[in-house]
Amino acid sequence: MFLRPKSLRTRVSLSVALLLLVAVVLLSLFVYMDLGGGLRRTLDDSLRMSASVAAAAVQVSNHSLSVQPDLPGSSRELQSLWNEGTTVRYLDAAGNTLAGFGLGWNAPTNTTNLAEARAEGHAFSEWTDRTLDKDFRVYTQAVSNGDAVLGFVQVMRDLHPISETLAELLAALAIGGTLVVVGGAIGGFFLSRQALKPIDKITRTAREISAQDLSARLNMTGSYDEVGRLASTFDSMLERLEDSFARERRFTADASHELRTPLAAMEAILGVIRAEPRSAEEYEQALDDLAEETTRLRKLVEDLLFLARGEHSGQEATETFDLSLLVQDVVDALSPLAEEKALSLQCQAEPRLQVRGKTDSLIRVFLNLIDNAIKFTDQGGITVTVYSTKESAVVAVADTGVGIPSAHLEHIFERFHRVDPSRSNPGSGLGLSLARQIILDHGGTLTVKSTEGRGSTFTVTLPRLM
Ligand code: ADP
Repeated sequence: MFLRPKSLRTRVSLSVALLLLVAVVLLSLFVYMDLGGGLRRTLDDSLRMSASVAAAAVQVSNHSLSVQPDLPGSSRELQSLWNEGTTVRYLDAAGNTLAGFGLGWNAPTNTTNLAEARAEGHAFSEWTDRTLDKDFRVYTQAVSNGDAVLGFVQVMRDLHPISETLAELLAALAIGGTLVVVGGAIGGFFLSRQALKPIDKITRTAREISAQDLSARLNMTGSYDEVGRLASTFDSMLERLEDSFARERRFTADASHELRTPLAAMEAILGVIRAEPRSAEEYEQALDDLAEETTRLRKLVEDLLFLARGEHSGQEATETFDLSLLVQDVVDALSPLAEEKALSLQCQAEPRLQVRGKTDSLIRVFLNLIDNAIKFTDQGGITVTVYSTKESAVVAVADTGVGIPSAHLEHIFERFHRVDPSRSNPGSGLGLSLARQIILDHGGTLTVKSTEGRGSTFTVTLPRLM
């Protein structure tokens, strides 16, 4: 079974060591073979030169070959060959040794080697002298008088210095290679520890984080490498989490506050009415007040439920429908409210504007926008326009009402935000945030433009079907 080390650090250092091992082995092999080949070539060249020097001592007569007596003292060149440890011997055409000097000069001859030299003029071979326990490189050169081979000059040199050099090289490569591999593994271990330090920090910070305290940050600024980017992604994720937790908490607090208000009002009404016997009119008035608070509570709970449902599931079916007809229906349904306040409510709709979406949710949006427009307008009227642009269907709800102070404009879509939170405004402040949520879910936008005292225009855009 292949054991996979758990720590990334160990894995990195083992991988570095393995890579270095492969590199060192390949490099050593190359150096060893290259140097070995070079040394042999140099030896062969010098053997060839020695052979031609040795051949100078040969006298060739018609049919035979004779050598000066008194070798190697007879010539300075032969003397120097002897000094440098070269073995020289002279053989007749049959391969019998005629004369020679140096280590192993009178050893038995190798006939294959002679046959090759007879055919080619010269031949290289290797030979082990068992009695001397030495390996020799042998160069045989044929001596001829034109047609016939009269004999051979053989020069040999001990291969020991070459194998010794190569053995030394091998030892040096093995020691150096081991040092490189071990050093690489240790270096890899420390380098990866250094590189992974920030990851440890991220792990520690992540452990410290809980839903109660999301304020921890890594703050690893200044590094733009992979880890730096991970850290800043982590920080921005924490930022978003903290933000959404804070919003959730605010929402829960606001929701319970809002729920408590009508309940407290109901409790007060009940307390007052039950304190002593009351007249029938007083009971009736109290029941009316209670009914009003109950409606307020029901609307609030409905909105909250809708918000919760809308965000967590998409149960409502999506369908294709004519937006102009839908808006016209909402306008018709709300016109009694406008009439009650003597306001004009007009709808100018481009016919047949197909969109896809959830009709109940969208009806809720337009009911809310037009209802608000009627609620916050005392004079003039409301104009609803439905038209198309290249890619969108647009619904604009414009009123001539009180308008929204600019300081409130950017908060108007937040949950529970009301410009005038007094009890004279019966709303909960959830309508617009719900509306925006629904429109965003449909891939559209909901924006507002308003001038205080002159009126507001809410504009919805939705993706249009062509
Ligand atoms: P509410 O239930 O209070 O109407 P909304 O979310 O629908 O809640 O609206 C939030 C607040 O935005 C309102 O309380 C009101 O102050 C302001 N607002 C909304 N629509 C208009 C409008 N057409 N003109 C002036 N103010 C508006």
